[in-house]
Amino acid sequence: MSLCARNFLIPNTLAEADSLDWAPQHSMTDVLIAGGGLAGSALAIRLGHMGFGVELFERSRFPREKPCGEGMMPGGLAALLRLGVAGTLGGEPFSGVRFHFRQQVAAGRFPSSLAVPLTGRGIRRRHLDQILFEEATRTPGVTAYVGARVERPLVEHGRIAGLIVEGSERRASLVVGADGPHSRLRHALSLDVPSQEKWVGMRAHFRLADSQPQAKWVDVYHGPGYELYATPLPAGELLVAALARTAAIHGRIEDQFRTWCTAEPKLRERLEGSRQVSELMAISPLSGGARRSFLPGFILLGDAAGFTDPITGGGMTHALLAAELLAKYAEQHFGKSEAWLAEFDRKRRALLRDFRMLTRIMVTLTAHPRWMAAIMRGLRLSPALFSHLVGVSSGVCRLWGGEHGLQEDVESPQYASVGHLLQNRADS
Ligand SMILES: Cc1cc2nc3c(=O)[nH]c(=O)nc-3n(C[C@H](O)[C@H](O)[C@H](O)COP(=O)(O)OP(=O)(O)OC[C@H]3O[C@@H](n4cnc5c(N)ncnc54)[C@H](O)[C@@H]3O)c2cc1C
Repeated sequence: MSLCARNFLIPNTLAEADSLDWAPQHSMTDVLIAGGGLAGSALAIRLGHMGFGVELFERSRFPREKPCGEGMMPGGLAALLRLGVAGTLGGEPFSGVRFHFRQQVAAGRFPSSLAVPLTGRGIRRRHLDQILFEEATRTPGVTAYVGARVERPLVEHGRIAGLIVEGSERRASLVVGADGPHSRLRHALSLDVPSQEKWVGMRAHFRLADSQPQAKWVDVYHGPGYELYATPLPAGELLVAALARTAAIHGRIEDQFRTWCTAEPKLRERLEGSRQVSELMAISPLSGGARRSFLPGFILLGDAAGFTDPITGGGMTHALLAAELLAKYAEQHFGKSEAWLAEFDRKRRALLRDFRMLTRIMVTLTAHPRWMAAIMRGLRLSPALFSHLVGVSSGVCRLWGGEHGLQEDVESPQYASVGHLLQNRADS
């Protein structure tokens, strides 16, 4: 089957964009990107603006759903603002994260920073991912396809020379695998490190009763064998996500999800009179990795390069920051020797190190209720410590102090105005 096959041209909301009409004249470009999620689309936009020729392949059509907690942390929000999509984002601002454990509540406000907004935003993934992909479609130099399933890498003389997409060969100097947590390319290149954990993630959306005020926090409820996340969304909607050990699920997953929601008194109260407006979506496993993240001519990006349990809610932020970093490296080194791929990978690991360490600590703590009780007492006594930890997960600061390097040089008028707008709107 050729690339101009049926799949590529099925109308969707993007179908009018000229760039989707397949014209297979050149089979060689600078960069091929598998996966038009956050990491893939953000990279395509940046590379396009730098003058690269990019082909972006997404197997779904937009708008599409994606199981996620939908809480965009300030570091990720700053990365989106730098991409220039601020005007169309929408979303509901929140000031930080609140933990609920038994009768205790601890609140961690996002720390202030010169380079990022003071708030995060709850944004529907079906909306966010579509905005980014559409922006990629409009970016000069980028040709973006929907309904385009990447089948496998094209390997020649020990190098990744391209991709097979819907039966057709595409070639480029660099191939990027941004095809998500269960990356087909990572698997095809035998780079998978399978997950040892048995966790499931699930989520559903609710429209709150008119009398119910929207909270300005992401609320996290710690229960036995599970955590529930409630993220405020625009138009009086609330996303509720659950992360749970498979052993904690008894009977139908929908029934179990409902049981957990009603077992938390504060959440039950918020959901009183609400209406569920999306189907429950689930995903497993919630963590996994890559034996290595690059090969000659090839690099993994975003969740495809390894993903941690979403417990600390920074996955989207770190996918966006890594895309930004990769674009910077490509701008400086593309076309020279490929040693820069290893350098980029080292820098990326450094960028993610603290966030991943914090995630591992959280996963361990939540498995031990006695430790969790002690930690809650500590966080309540020291809001500054909690605020700092929330800053680490949101891409604002380092675990042992200092701001995140990538954010430091960011200051555009557009960013400043949107940042202030959000700060004003998110009261406590
Ligand atoms: C339950 C849950 C809750 C979460 N909550 C949060 C949260 O609150 N905040 C946060 O920041 N992060 C959260 N995350 C993490 C976040 O969702 C991910 O880190 C983020 O989506 C990673 O982006 P990505 O672009 O790497 O991958 P994805 O968003 O998964 O995008 C990959 C894209 O590749 C496409 N694709 C896959 N295979 C192919 C193929 N063969 N050919 C073509 N296209 C392909 C897919 O359709 C998809 O569009 C959560 C995750 C889960 C599971």
